[in-house]
Amino acid sequence: MSLGIETTCIHGNGQLEKEHPYRSIITPIFQVATFGHPGIGKSTGYDYSRVGNPTRYDLEQVVNDLEHGNGCLATTNGMSAIWLTLELLKPGDHIIASEDLYGGSVRLFDLVKGSHDISVDYINTSYPDRVREAIRENTKALFIETPSNPMMEVTDLSEMRKIADESNLLLIVDNTFLSPYFQNPIDFGADIVIHSGTKYLEGHNDTLAGFVITRSRELYEKLEFIYKTTGPCLAPFDSFLVLRGIKTLSVRLERQQENALKIARWLKGNPQVTDVYYVGLEDHPGYEVNKRQSRGFGGMISFRTATKELAEKILGKIKVITFAESLGGVESLMTYPMIQTHGYIAPEVREKLGITDTLLRLSVGIENADDLIEDLRQAFED
Ligand code: PLP
Repeated sequence: MSLGIETTCIHGNGQLEKEHPYRSIITPIFQVATFGHPGIGKSTGYDYSRVGNPTRYDLEQVVNDLEHGNGCLATTNGMSAIWLTLELLKPGDHIIASEDLYGGSVRLFDLVKGSHDISVDYINTSYPDRVREAIRENTKALFIETPSNPMMEVTDLSEMRKIADESNLLLIVDNTFLSPYFQNPIDFGADIVIHSGTKYLEGHNDTLAGFVITRSRELYEKLEFIYKTTGPCLAPFDSFLVLRGIKTLSVRLERQQENALKIARWLKGNPQVTDVYYVGLEDHPGYEVNKRQSRGFGGMISFRTATKELAEKILGKIKVITFAESLGGVESLMTYPMIQTHGYIAPEVREKLGITDTLLRLSVGIENADDLIEDLRQAFED
């Protein structure tokens, strides 16, 4: 039976352990490092929590089902999920990545350039021809964010799959911004989907988590070997929190999107705002592509103020919205990408991408939309 996504968020697709002790309705926290063996060569299914833990297992099943995957690994945070994936590459390999990318991912790529002898080219992946032109003999993977962080560039995933097929590349998609509630990159040919589970999946700004989901079982097995060997595994309590957070993914994201659309329209009508970047606005250049490959637009908005002074004033005056890094939680957060999430990026690259001192990023929460708009209105005022 194929279940609706709202049901999958709560029950998975039938692979969850049903017989918890005392018929507990929820997966208990198995705060356990090791498990007894029933006999030589026998196992309960769990031997040691680095390799497998029942709380983490249920979480991995739910995320796997939500992403239409064939295997999922829950990691300590989004960065360790990306790092784990990069471990599939060999010295001398080359990656093409979206040029507008979470700054931490760029920092990680820079690290592996040196330590693993891997080279990376950053390309605007909204233009498939530019991606094709950048392919070299040693290119092994495409690494995509769509919509991207923070400029909300949209990349056509089906086009990326075609390119990946032409040159036998791995297609890796960081799906943090839309979450599996709105977008399933595996349905469009992604080999690997990555999440910062810290964001929409967990949803409450209180736990770090990451996920790697694969299209094939073969890829899962390769990654699982690296995972159990190197150990970036999510702890049982954190697994419990993310599992609980996911139960409300559908209701949270519906509200976040509804609020985001109202705020994006309000910003659009504000003469002190020069640009609004929200994929739910019909004049967004990626609107049609995003609509084709997702079920929604999400809750992330970036916008540009008329002056740097205005951007700074807003950050100092917001009251309901908090000036903070991160995104995807129930609380609305405003970020100054230039000095926070993208502070690592070289100034000339930031300038070229548009990540300047007038750009603000808003992660819209589930508060009352009128309260959020009123908070913004008073922050814009003298
Ligand atoms: N991917 C994206 C798109 C992000 O925005 C972030 C963090 O902001 C990460 C990955 C890294 O995730 P984490 O902070 O959980 O390590």
